[in-house]
Amino acid sequence: MNTEPIKDIVIVGGGTAGWMTAAALSTMLNGRYNIRLVESDEIGIVGVGEATIPMIQRFNRVLGIDEHEFMRETQGSFKLGVEFVNWGKLGERYMHGFGRLGQDLATVPFDQYWQKMRRAGKAAPLEEYSISRMAAKANKFMPARHDVPNSPLRDIAYAYHFDASLYARYLRKLSESRGVIRIEGKIAHATQREGDGFIDAVVLESGQRVEGELFIDCSGFRGLLIEQTLQTGYEDWQHWLPADRALAVPCESVAAMTPYTRATAHQSGWQWRIPLQHRTGNGHVYCSRFISDDEASATLLANLDGKALAEPRLIKFQTGMRKQAWNRNVVAVGLAGGFLEPIESTSIHLIQSTIQRLIDFFPDRRFSAVDREEFNRQSRFEYERIRDFIILHYKLNQRTDSAYWTECANMAIPETLQRKMDMYQSHGRIVRVDNELFSEVGWIQVFEGQNMPIDGYHPLADSQSDADIADYLESVRSVIAQCVKVMPTHDEYIAKMCAAK
Ligand code: FAD
Repeated sequence: MNTEPIKDIVIVGGGTAGWMTAAALSTMLNGRYNIRLVESDEIGIVGVGEATIPMIQRFNRVLGIDEHEFMRETQGSFKLGVEFVNWGKLGERYMHGFGRLGQDLATVPFDQYWQKMRRAGKAAPLEEYSISRMAAKANKFMPARHDVPNSPLRDIAYAYHFDASLYARYLRKLSESRGVIRIEGKIAHATQREGDGFIDAVVLESGQRVEGELFIDCSGFRGLLIEQTLQTGYEDWQHWLPADRALAVPCESVAAMTPYTRATAHQSGWQWRIPLQHRTGNGHVYCSRFISDDEASATLLANLDGKALAEPRLIKFQTGMRKQAWNRNVVAVGLAGGFLEPIESTSIHLIQSTIQRLIDFFPDRRFSAVDREEFNRQSRFEYERIRDFIILHYKLNQRTDSAYWTECANMAIPETLQRKMDMYQSHGRIVRVDNELFSEVGWIQVFEGQNMPIDGYHPLADSQSDADIADYLESVRSVIAQCVKVMPTHDEYIAKMCAAK
């Protein structure tokens, strides 16, 4: 058995996935491996992917990234959640805010007391019990204050918006300073070993051969190694997630920078709005069976904050996942591994978690099948659970104005999601299985934001008197409101942070 360590790692692709992988491996493997990254300037990167979820802070911490420098270099802003407009009924809006909801009271979770009091007409809207959501609504921002005991200021959770091209450039600088060798050129094909079909080299159009033992396919939707060479297969999820195109366009920013992403549902898709320091990123994600590219473009351009700074750029995609994220000696990271659609900004997180999983199951020269299988099992679990959460947004719409939304409301859904919906409907309970990404708080906000009917609440919520619960809810609500008042605006916070060297 060859238990020797591998030596040569080749990363194919220099988009967000490629450079995040390079930065993480060069940091975590302590320079003991040769890491080379091949990218083609001619092909370029997908160039979208500018909103994240709070776990990215952990990634930056492991890499030793200074937040102030990061925000300056990527023209970033802060994100406290996603505001959904027109997703339940036309004209409605709600926010999926990060961080906790309320404060624990006694036997059952906070939201169960809220459900009870709501029925009695004695509760404020759910959002008023979340500091992230109330701060977002007021355009306020500051990071959590861990030095103030029992204050909601401890509960602020946030992520970032950033310019994807600047982020890749920033990570490239960091990776190269930690020993990663970048090779510019277009890969023409890959060569495979006799017998086991492992890839042993990628060959550039120039004729240069780049040999390696572990290949990380970050080549984007094309899946140069995982699909074009190894023909791993792709599981199509378009019957659940029917959007298949996006048009992306930056525009001038006119208003104050909002500390949240906005997702506005249109007739046959939805539009993102991501505020950055130097521009606002926008895109219309839609289903081509229901709307033409020209109509989608007109809708996008009619709903910008300011003047468009470029022509809309068309991106085609197929929602789903690669049947195996790890096949032979190739691990697919980023779009090469699958794509769910950007409504909850989960792709960059999936890059991060795939890298973490690769570290957990890092191979030696045996390339153990059992490790690979476990890696693939965990990847599938993660993708499927995020998929369910995203489908919920579509399934739970009550729009009657378009064939697209009606089709989404009537579609058959995965059994795992149906169970979650049934549990919620019965008693407002949410069962989080293993390490699934979205917590109870995320699910509740979408269920409630999109008017999921519920039959009852947890019977043990009745163990406290109505008066006690009402007092408690009111004290949580008013303390949050007072905290938000003293927070700086998002613009003020960023200006101060970026001025500080
Ligand atoms: P790419 O950026 O496509 O990079 C591929 C790399 O491979 C490039 O460097 C290219 O040059 C190289 N390459 C390809 N072929 C060759 C070859 N033959 N030779 C040499 N090099 C080659 N994610 C989020 O987390 N949040 C979001 O808000 C978000 N929004 C999105 C919106 C849309 C419409 C889409 C489509 C995606 C969005 N994503 C989002 C996903 C996010 O954009 C991607 O996960 C991220 O950019 C990673 O892309 P990538 O690096 O896998 O691929």
